[in-house]
Amino acid sequence: MSQLDSATVVTMDKSASAGVSSLNLYDKCLALAHNVWWSWQPEVVNLFRDLDPIRWRQLDHNPIALLSEFTPDRLEMRAAELVLYSRINHAYRRLKEYMNSSQTWATTHAGVLGSKPVAYFSAEFGMHESIPIYSGGLGVLSGDHVKSASDLGINFVAVGLFYDQGYFKQHLDHDGYQLEEYLDTKVENVPMVPARGADGNPLHVTVETRNGNLIAKVWLMQVGRVRLYLLDCDVEGNSPEDRELTSRLYGGDHRTRIRQELVLGVGGVRALHALGYSPGVIHMNEGHSAFAGLEAIRVAMEDDGQSFDEALREVAQHSVFTTHTPVPAGHDRFDGGLIEEHLGPLRDKLGISYDQLMGLGRVEPHNGGESFTMTVLALKLSRRANAVSSLHGHVSRRMWAHLWPWRVEEEIPIGHITNGVHIQSWLAYQMQQLYDRYFPADWMKRMGEAEVWQYIHTIDPGELWETHHALKNLLLSFVRRRVSRQYRRRGESDESVELARSMLDPNILTIGFARRFATYKRADLLMQDLDLLAQLINDPDRPIQIIFAGKAHPADEPGKQLIKRVSNMRHDPRFAQRVAFIEDYDINVCRHLVQGVDVWLNNPRRPLEASGTSGQKAVLNGGLNLSVLDGWWAEAYDGANGFAIGKGTSHVSDAINDRRDGESLMKALREQVIPLYYDRDVDGLPRQWIKRMMNSIGSLAWRFSAHRMVMDYVLSAYVPAAGGLSCDMNSR
Ligand SMILES: *Cc1c(COP(=O)(O)O)cnc(C)c1O
Repeated sequence: MSQLDSATVVTMDKSASAGVSSLNLYDKCLALAHNVWWSWQPEVVNLFRDLDPIRWRQLDHNPIALLSEFTPDRLEMRAAELVLYSRINHAYRRLKEYMNSSQTWATTHAGVLGSKPVAYFSAEFGMHESIPIYSGGLGVLSGDHVKSASDLGINFVAVGLFYDQGYFKQHLDHDGYQLEEYLDTKVENVPMVPARGADGNPLHVTVETRNGNLIAKVWLMQVGRVRLYLLDCDVEGNSPEDRELTSRLYGGDHRTRIRQELVLGVGGVRALHALGYSPGVIHMNEGHSAFAGLEAIRVAMEDDGQSFDEALREVAQHSVFTTHTPVPAGHDRFDGGLIEEHLGPLRDKLGISYDQLMGLGRVEPHNGGESFTMTVLALKLSRRANAVSSLHGHVSRRMWAHLWPWRVEEEIPIGHITNGVHIQSWLAYQMQQLYDRYFPADWMKRMGEAEVWQYIHTIDPGELWETHHALKNLLLSFVRRRVSRQYRRRGESDESVELARSMLDPNILTIGFARRFATYKRADLLMQDLDLLAQLINDPDRPIQIIFAGKAHPADEPGKQLIKRVSNMRHDPRFAQRVAFIEDYDINVCRHLVQGVDVWLNNPRRPLEASGTSGQKAVLNGGLNLSVLDGWWAEAYDGANGFAIGKGTSHVSDAINDRRDGESLMKALREQVIPLYYDRDVDGLPRQWIKRMMNSIGSLAWRFSAHRMVMDYVLSAYVPAAGGLSCDMNSR
C-alpha cells in the first residue's frame, strides 16, 4: 500500500479532494485503481495498460497488482517516457468530478430516495475480470446494475459476499473434459478496504445459529459513487470450516448454501445498520438474500415496538424482489432442520413459532411435506416483485400462481423489468469513438434514450463496417493467442500449437456462442447434423466459422459432456481450423467475443432463458443476434434487427423441440444469415447486412441498457416502495 491511507483514497471525500494538488502521480494512479469506476473508462484502462502492456495482460488487467510492481519513482520515469502525465492528471480530475457532481438523473427523478438509500443485495457481483467474485450472468447483471445506479446518481448501497477463491478457473484435459482449479485471490490486490464501524474499528458482524455464532468481517469496495459492502467469513473466531464458508461461489452442499445466505441476508442487514444506514428500500436480487427481510422485520419490531405482523407489512411495503429462475428446480430449497438450526435464534426474537416461520417459505403454509423455498419467502416479504423479461414474467406468474389461489393468472402480482447491460462496460472503445463523431455531444449522458441512438443511421456504412472489422481482427488474434496457449499448456505438439496460431479467417462469417454450459442452452444444437454443418463451414464461396466458450457447473456432468463434445470437434479435420473453444469464459473473454463477432448465437430451450444479456452486449458493437425467441429476444426482435430461430413456440417434448429448433437454426443460417452476409456491392460492402446492424443498434441499444433498466426500477419499484407516488406497475 502507498503512503496514502487507502480509506481516504477510496472514499474521495471532501478532505481528500482538498489536498489534490499535493498528491503525486503514483497516489493518483492508486486512487484511480481503488475505485472500480476506472473499469468502465476506456481512457483509464488504456492508461494502466500503457504502463506495462505485457504485465497488464499477465496480471488479469488488475491495476492494483500492476502498481505494486512500481515504485513512485519508477512510475514517474515511466510516465515521463510515455508522456502520461497529462493523461493521469486528466483521469484523476474526471474521477473527482464524477464523485462530486450534483446534477444527475436521480436529482430530478429520484428525489424521494434522497435521504434513505436503496439497499441492493446479491450473492455475486461481476464488475471486472480482476475482481473474481462472480460466476456468470447473475453476477454481471448485478455489477451492471450497480454501475448504472452510480452513473445515474441513485442513492444506492450494495451488499454481497467476498469469495477469496471466487469461481473456478476452467481448463480442459486431453479428452476435452473440464478441470476446475481454485486460486486464492490476493486480498491486497482487490480494490477494497475494511469497513469501519462507529467506533472507528474494522467492522465485524455476528449471526447466531442454534449451533454457535458465525462472524463476518465487512469490506468496502467503491464502485463509482456506490459503496459495495462485502461480507467475508475468513476471520478469527470462526471454526476452521466456517472460515472457508465464503471461499467459493456456489460450492458445497445445502448446509454451506444456507449459511452463506444467512450471512448475506441477516449479516448484510446488520452490517448496514452498524454502518449507520437506514435503507428506504430493500432490493433482493434473486432469492439468495431473502433472509434480509426477516432481519429487517426484527429491526422494525425492536425500533418501533411493532408486532410481527405490522413489521412484516411495513418491511414488505419497502421491499422489491427480482426473480431470475424460470424452472422450479432452480430455486433454493431447505428442509426444516436446516432452517431451524440457522434461523432458530432469529425466530425466537421475532416471537414466531417454527410452523409460522416454515409457512413463510411454503406455498401452502401448513403443508408439512413442503420444504422452505427462498423465492417463496422473498415473494411473501416484498410487495413488489418482478421477473427479468416479458416472457419470463408470464412464466413466473404461472409458476407461482398457487401462492395467490384466488387470483387469475394475469393478476398474479409479479411484473417484469427486462434486463439490460451497462453500455460503457461493453461497448468497444473504437466503436464508442465512432459514435462520438456522429451522435449528439451529450449522448453518453443520455444513453438510455431512444432518440440518441437514431443517429446510428447517419453513420457512413463503410466506416461502421471498417470499425467492426478492426474489432473482429482483435477478437481473432485473441482467440489464436488463447487457443495456442491452451494447447501448449496441455503439452500438445508444436505443430498443433502452430496451427492454432493461424486458425480462423477475418473474411469468414464468424459466429460466437458463449455461455454457461447448462444442457438447456443446447450448445450442441448446431451439431445435430454434422455433415450439414461441415458443408456450411467449408463452403468454398460462403464459409462460416464458430467460436465457443463456457463453463459447466462443477456438479453438472451432462454440461461437462457437452463441453467435451464441442471442444473435440477440432479433432475432425473438417472443423479443425474453423471451430475454436476458448477455455475459462469470464468477463474478459466475453468482452472480446461480443465486440468482435458477426453473429451472436443463442439457442436455449424456450422458455428457459429468463432474459440473457450477452446478446445485448453484442448489439452495442454491431453484432447481429441469431436467437430463439426466448428471454429478452422475444420482445426485441422485429424482423429487421437480427434473426430468429423458430417461431416462438415450444413443444412439450424436448426431443421434438430440439429437432425442430435445430432444423430451424440451419434453415435460418442457409436462407438468411449466410446469403445476407456475403451479398456484397462493388465496394465489397454487405449493404443489407450493415443496414441490419444499424437497425439492431438503433432499435435495441437503449432499450436493453442497464441505464434504462435502473430507471425502470427507480420509477416503477424503488420510488413507490420508498413511499413516493409513481407508476406502480405491480404493487399488491
Ligand atoms: C454477460 C455475461 C453472461 C451472461 O450471458 P447470458 O446471455 O445470460 O448467457 C455470463 N457470463 C459472463 C462472463 C458474461 O459477461
